[in-house]
Amino acid sequence: ALTAGIVGLPNVGKSTLFNAITKAGAEAANYPFCTIDPNVGIVEVPDARLDKLTELVKPKKTVPTAFEFTDIAGIVKGASKGEGLGNKFLSHIREVDAICQVVRCFADENITHVSGKVNPIDDIEVINLELILADLESVDKRLTRVSKMVKSKDKEALLEEPILKRLKEAFESEKPARSVDFTEDELKVIKGMNLLTIKPMLYVANVSEDEISDPDNNEYVQQVREFAKGDNAEVIVVCAKIEEEMAELDEDEKAMFLEELGIEEAGLDQLIRASYNLLGLATYFTAGEKEVRAWTFRKGMKAPQCAGVIHTDFERGFIRAETVSYEDLLEAGSMPAAKEAGKVRLEGKEYVVQDGDVMLFRFNV
Ligand code: GDP
Repeated sequence: ALTAGIVGLPNVGKSTLFNAITKAGAEAANYPFCTIDPNVGIVEVPDARLDKLTELVKPKKTVPTAFEFTDIAGIVKGASKGEGLGNKFLSHIREVDAICQVVRCFADENITHVSGKVNPIDDIEVINLELILADLESVDKRLTRVSKMVKSKDKEALLEEPILKRLKEAFESEKPARSVDFTEDELKVIKGMNLLTIKPMLYVANVSEDEISDPDNNEYVQQVREFAKGDNAEVIVVCAKIEEEMAELDEDEKAMFLEELGIEEAGLDQLIRASYNLLGLATYFTAGEKEVRAWTFRKGMKAPQCAGVIHTDFERGFIRAETVSYEDLLEAGSMPAAKEAGKVRLEGKEYVVQDGDVMLFRFNV
């Protein structure tokens, strides 16, 4: 399963945020595909469309789709040189598909900051530099090998060498790979290198309880936003402490709490949605009387692969799919009405499923 890794320096609020994630956690029994591991938190992906579909179909059960966060503790300065748990830390990052970097934007004198004072940009640079140095090392190694092959006019090497040189140049000026403009074809070559700094990055600015309702007044948050622009990264503002408290509440209590705080959407929900998008994930629905359910697929996946998300047999025996977009179904008011209006299509093996499609798969077993 795809997962987003949570990283950050010590004492920035990672564990607090991860606690919020596991407390808010989805029931693992509903999601047999998810990893069971103390460092993995499964969350349900909030989706208003699922609520609307439930109102419309009135099923016995509604199941949101789920998504995994992995807690990656242990980064310190010098990690790329193997200090602390450095190497282990980097290999854990290699396994995740996107990175959520928690950045301390709350001033609290009682909580020590590893470098003495709150300075989010310094913190970000410490972590990013470790990742960049690790990538520089792998690119250097590869470049030595590829340059030899270039001499014998090896086709792939000829293609790869200029890309490696551009990466090296970026790393030497302390820029991550994701900040360099590459073409689709170049990105395909890069994908095989499993670089750390090509992974999409999201900064999670952790602010204090009194600042969550007006985070733009927090100068640290402004600094992070400014930095993220040049880094091709997104920023989400949370108050980890509040999220941890809120994770224990039911939906109604949560709504009341949010209103009191004067915020529209919980930071955790924003984080879940942003990570989901960052990973290139999308949602389709199945809507039967027994169960209305959301399923996750990767953008660009075709109908049989999407059927395979439910069960591998569905992919193998795929015949066709009946599909209607969520908007069309909602407008029609019911499946028969949508059919009547000609909004339900029969799609075959080549159909690229769209976010929000309501699918009914036909298959042989
Ligand atoms: P980690 O080392 O990054 O995992 O950080 P922790 O989650 O253990 O947090 C370090 C300290 O900061 C703890 O005492 C937390 O209670 C506190 N903390 C975390 N998030 C917040 C926050 O949003 N506001 C305030 N005031 N304190 C926080």
